[in-house]
Amino acid sequence: MKIVDHIKNAKGKTLFSFELLPPAKGQGIQSIFKTMDELMEFKPPFIDVTYHREDYLYKQHDNGLLERVAYRKRPGTVAICAAIMSKYKVDAVPHLICGGFTKEETENALIDLNFLGIDNVLVLRGDARKGDSDFIPTPGGHAYATDLLQQVADMNRGQYLHEDIELSEKTNFCIGVAGYPEKHFEAPNFNTDFKWLKKKVDMGAEFIVTQMFYNVEKYKEFVTKCRDNGIHVPIIPGLKPLTTKKQLITLPKIFHLDIPEELSDAVSECKTNADVRQVGGEWLVEQCKELIKFGAPVLHFYTMSNPGPTKKIVEKLF
Ligand code: FAD
Repeated sequence: MKIVDHIKNAKGKTLFSFELLPPAKGQGIQSIFKTMDELMEFKPPFIDVTYHREDYLYKQHDNGLLERVAYRKRPGTVAICAAIMSKYKVDAVPHLICGGFTKEETENALIDLNFLGIDNVLVLRGDARKGDSDFIPTPGGHAYATDLLQQVADMNRGQYLHEDIELSEKTNFCIGVAGYPEKHFEAPNFNTDFKWLKKKVDMGAEFIVTQMFYNVEKYKEFVTKCRDNGIHVPIIPGLKPLTTKKQLITLPKIFHLDIPEELSDAVSECKTNADVRQVGGEWLVEQCKELIKFGAPVLHFYTMSNPGPTKKIVEKLF
């Protein structure tokens, strides 16, 4: 079922959903099932599965020369989605990224998703490869989420890359995109970034999932700005509990977000990681209560495939 229909059917009640990472290469799918087993009690209408572009590793040969090898650490997104849908009867939302795909490969991936009965996709540009300072598009692929979105929207109209539109079956993907309440880190300013978000919605995105944030006011302001500017699709807040002190540095650095002083002070005073989990968990519970009061359609948790801290939070809200 489409995410927009799950939200419609909930009739204003806030739903809970989760994002999982594919296991690292060489690990089995059991870790996904274990996580799912723990989260199913919250009746998630959908589960997101992230997509990871190739990185590089360097292999040293006997002659001392280094060979650069393209290597994907976490493959399996599409297969995990299919396995989740088959085993748990829950909709799975694969993340679809520009990086690492030519347009033909994207088309083939979308055909696979369509044949598997996957109704939703989260369309993203993707992160830069480790070692690249900026995002480098794949030759013959897309540079921005807008370009990728256009390809999915084209297929929803029956327009494939090389086939006759009259003879091609339309796909029916419900398309989601990313939104940044605190601005995407590359954008020169908030309004420019917002203009691209509006463009994505005008091009056919039916829901937005936000980058994580730790100040509910940022989400509220973002939603208000969207509504004032003609963006009326559901805006799903992305949430992640703080679990280590180190995240006070890494999260702002990686995700370009602001951690409120009250929270960073409280975390700084913690003696152990268990204390941090307690403080981070309590903060997120309060955030979630505010979001539910504000009418957030879904609370979407970035579990990083470690469901424990998320579970403790959702137990207090469900
Ligand atoms: P875009 O919308 O393409 O925006 C990128 C930048 O370019 C922004 O600064 C924007 O303002 C600007 N821009 C947008 N369109 C245009 C245009 N047409 N012309 C010029 N400038 C433009 N990464 C992964 O690799 N795998 C994942 O599974 C994944 N999941 C994510 C899930 C969520 C909910 C979020 C919020 C992020 C996720 N990411 C993931 C990270 C994401 O790929 C990065 O944040 C990336 O840097 C930007 O992706 P985007 O889709 O927002 O890009």
